[in-house]
Amino acid sequence: MADHATTSANTPEIVLLMGPPGAGKGTQATALAEARGLTPLSTGTMLRDHVARGTELGQRAKAIMDAGDLVPDDVIVGMVRAELEAADPPRFLLDGFPRTPAQAAALDAMLAELGTQVTAAIALEADDEELVQRLLKRAELEGRSDDNETTVRNRMEVYRQQTQPLLEYYEGRGALKRVDGIGSIEEIQARIREVLP
Ligand code: AMP
Repeated sequence: MADHATTSANTPEIVLLMGPPGAGKGTQATALAEARGLTPLSTGTMLRDHVARGTELGQRAKAIMDAGDLVPDDVIVGMVRAELEAADPPRFLLDGFPRTPAQAAALDAMLAELGTQVTAAIALEADDEELVQRLLKRAELEGRSDDNETTVRNRMEVYRQQTQPLLEYYEGRGALKRVDGIGSIEEIQARIREVLP
């Protein structure tokens, strides 16, 4: 079984946390990043921060996010590139990136430049019914402006069309780890740690 001792703070490590909206990526990210000594990087959180600060990027992104659509690839890749290049060695837990084939290709190219590659892609899985329930509950608790029912449905559809095909991409190279996303936070965290190299 993989454990903390098998990862070293001096080696690059890039773990992707993937899965549909509501699968629990954000919830698992903090504990997992801490356990592996990784910096958590959520493109959604970075974008929400831009929106809150009213930056030019935030102003452009807000309407797209509120509709549940994807922010253009070049904007997202630029944000991630800045973080990857500033770290030595790059040790990141990427939550919500990549979301399109173009982003996955850009990530591969950036990592190749840094002399590394994706360590593992974790796919958190849950059925649609469970996902919608969770998202609507989160809408009540957190008041995220993109958690209303219309947006939730669109985000699911966007995930299915643009992001889900990436799972096969990582599966094809043996990096995909599918994890059952139904259970307590601790149970799911344990499953994730079990499958990591
Ligand atoms: P999240 O918090 O990951 O669910 O992201 C919230 C919203 O931010 C998404 O619905 C998109 O509008 C936008 N977003 C976050 N990450 C990306 C990404 N990698 N590519 C495009 N848009 C993104």
